[in-house]
Amino acid sequence: MRIHRPLIAGNWKMHGLRGSAGELEKIIAGARKLPEVEMVICPPATLIMSFAATAFGSPITVGGQDCHAEAVGAFTGDISAEMLKDAGATAVIVGHSERRRYHGESDAVVQAKANAAFRAGLIAIVCVGETRAEREAGRALAVVGSQIEGSLPEGAGDFVVAYEPVWAIGTGLTPTPGDVAAMHHFIRERLESRYSESGQGVRILYGGSVKPTNARELLAVKNVDGALVGGASLVAEEFLKIASACR
Ligand code: PEP
Repeated sequence: MRIHRPLIAGNWKMHGLRGSAGELEKIIAGARKLPEVEMVICPPATLIMSFAATAFGSPITVGGQDCHAEAVGAFTGDISAEMLKDAGATAVIVGHSERRRYHGESDAVVQAKANAAFRAGLIAIVCVGETRAEREAGRALAVVGSQIEGSLPEGAGDFVVAYEPVWAIGTGLTPTPGDVAAMHHFIRERLESRYSESGQGVRILYGGSVKPTNARELLAVKNVDGALVGGASLVAEEFLKIASACR
């Protein structure tokens, strides 16, 4: 089993222009003081190449927010995992709830993308999470269990699971630490039963309204190996405060 550092990943979503490089530079400067934490910034695709060049040789790596399952082909507007790698990315988020919702991505599509990431030598950050209605109906574990079953890569490559309850994303709401602990324990068990010993080394991130004010409490939960951060990753100071809460 490989022992990894905690991972704090920033998902910039559809935010950021070339002028945002200053924020990245601040993140890089702060990350040099936090060698015990791994950090990846996932900007819009238009910024990956320049961000990767700026971050080269620094503790920050750069990731994509999505990829196509195929390496090349007639898929207008899409970007393959190989292209992300070529642009300097080391990771890619797949199956984010916004992709599942607005682009109709099924578990099978997400799994194909996770496999593509593995093929290209990228770390796949595979997102799973229940909606509010599913949680209220007592189906959170069942929903996440089936997403885990259907979306994770076929081989035990280098991937990360991000548990992101859909109702917590961008809302300021978070599950209780007890609910996070129960879900992460459940995911860990599923990983171990599917990938044997290497399932113990897969990092499970929590995502959904992580802020400097709640990061310490959420990151202290057992089986929480880092965070996937949306809104708060756009501001270097907030992102770095969240990362420093891993200590
Ligand atoms: C996300 O979109 O992955 C996310 C976690 O967003 P936020 O932190 O803004 O809730």
